[in-house]
Amino acid sequence: MFISIGVRFEANVEALNMVETAGNYSKHRRVPYIIEEDGKLKTIYVPAISGESLGHAYQELLVKESKALNLPVCEDCEKFEFFKSMNKNYLKKKINPVPKDDKKKIEEAIIKSCVIEDVGGFLYAEKPPVKRTSAFQFSYALPIKSIAVYATTEPQLHARHAQTGEGKKEGVAEQMIYYVETGTAVYGFTFNIDLDAIGISSLTNKAVVDEDGIKKRREASLKAIFRMLSSQQFGAKLSRFFPVGNIMEVAIAITEHPFSVTSPIYDNYMEKTEKRLKVIADTFREEIKFMTTDGEKTPEECLAEMINYVKDKNII
Ligand SMILES: [Zn+2]
Repeated sequence: MFISIGVRFEANVEALNMVETAGNYSKHRRVPYIIEEDGKLKTIYVPAISGESLGHAYQELLVKESKALNLPVCEDCEKFEFFKSMNKNYLKKKINPVPKDDKKKIEEAIIKSCVIEDVGGFLYAEKPPVKRTSAFQFSYALPIKSIAVYATTEPQLHARHAQTGEGKKEGVAEQMIYYVETGTAVYGFTFNIDLDAIGISSLTNKAVVDEDGIKKRREASLKAIFRMLSSQQFGAKLSRFFPVGNIMEVAIAITEHPFSVTSPIYDNYMEKTEKRLKVIADTFREEIKFMTTDGEKTPEECLAEMINYVKDKNII
């Protein structure tokens, strides 16, 4: 079973993805973006949030949901340090001695001992190298096309003040000024997850974890995206630049095989996705499910419906 979610959210005065600091100036991530204006294509630069950033937040929440379901998470991932089993030193914590020339055993040991590396993939870069592709995918979050020209980045001036008066040391600046480039946009992004890949060896296609364990891992993966969207706990600088805005819309497609919703950067993405799904259902005679926040439904109601549907199908 494959799940694809399109998300739209409004974020005013956000600093969700900062890329570099030059002196006292922190820059927001920006990307070139093609838009159509008066029948002509042109490139503009817009604020963006990387898929890496969204993926990191998702994995943090996956750690929490996995632990709530008593699932294994390795000590590095538990600390939200997702360099994973990248070399012998880290792998040794999971399997010791490290099996020589046995990719299957290495992959199996990692999957068994850490849900985050099972679901989020890893790259063991030694001899032999072992690579596991992530079961989930995140796009960048980019401004909605039709209103992308209104997306902005703008530096805001802030100051930190040092103690003044009797306690003042000579030579210490009384204040330090700094600029944070804030973005304002209505963003869209896509999240996909292949539930069939969880707990399954990518080398042999066989289950590495028992059925109950696989179901729980899938459940944790879905609860993590639910939490991420409802809490808006993604991106940087939330403590002082928590975006003013909301998750506005979600569109969720549940299919038997990989399928991706039409990107929410397009205005008609819900209708387009529905049309495309209908063709899939007719052509392949497959069951599909599509739910959206169109109408009165909240994103949480949609996400709960997604989890209940998957539960009814005995997938989790
Ligand atoms: Zn881990």
